[in-house]
Amino acid sequence: MKIGLPPGYASTIELPFNTASLQENFQLAAPDRDPGGPGSWLLLQGNRVFFDQTEQGIALPRGLAPLSSSTVPPLYIGQWQGQPCRLLSLARDDSAPNDLDSESIMAADPQLPLPILSLAGIARMILHWELTSGHCGHCGGALQRLTGEWGKKCTHCNNHHHPRIHPCVIGLVVKGDEILLVRKPEWADGRFGLVAGFVEFGECLEEAMAREILEETGIIVANTRYLGSQCWPFPSQLMTGFVSDYVSGEIKLQEDELEAAGWYKLNQLPTLPPRRSIARYLIDAAAEYLQK
Ligand SMILES: [Zn+2]
Repeated sequence: MKIGLPPGYASTIELPFNTASLQENFQLAAPDRDPGGPGSWLLLQGNRVFFDQTEQGIALPRGLAPLSSSTVPPLYIGQWQGQPCRLLSLARDDSAPNDLDSESIMAADPQLPLPILSLAGIARMILHWELTSGHCGHCGGALQRLTGEWGKKCTHCNNHHHPRIHPCVIGLVVKGDEILLVRKPEWADGRFGLVAGFVEFGECLEEAMAREILEETGIIVANTRYLGSQCWPFPSQLMTGFVSDYVSGEIKLQEDELEAAGWYKLNQLPTLPPRRSIARYLIDAAAEYLQK
């Protein structure tokens, strides 16, 4: 059966980590544009973000400096609500500030406002770039930031390097009134999700999606359509989401990737991914369409 989803072209999805979810609160800027003075602090420890509980609700801590010591110097990342915003990353064994609350950006049911959650995700991508861009991939020379940019140039061979964002595909397959869901062993107990993977050399997105579905589940698909995308800062992916139609094949698991896969009717779905993820967005979008 060939279904018509999507009815039109996708627009920006207001999911966590997408810039649209910052909702006018934040303008990204390069570290050398720091205007100085007090501002807001994005304080991270791994995936945890620290925040103030104020009478107005959850807010980023403000002031000149939230901590007397940290393992890395603060990094100006742009303007948050019109004030300078600086990123500070605590090491795993640094003691956390005891006057602030914290929450993981991976929380299944996040309490953080969407703009702060999204800012923290973007900050994780920035930290990953900073961590992996110390030296030139061509000659090993030290890299130096380009003026007014996040990109860097090699002080030895002069090659330029820019933040690397990796395209990935994720999607579901529709077969009649059922959808294909899969389960990885590392996911929370009982939770099912969607086939996903990195785009390989030479592939367009639709080819990558069809290959991943075939490799992971043995299912051949066609009519792969784009539904939307999500920035996925774990550590630096762009998830592009698709729905495909079943053509042929029986489920045959790629056992080093998956521990289960199956066809599910919409009224018998297992535990699904959290609502912050494009996986859930795609499942909900397909369900809405199939129920019509
Ligand atoms: Zn170099």
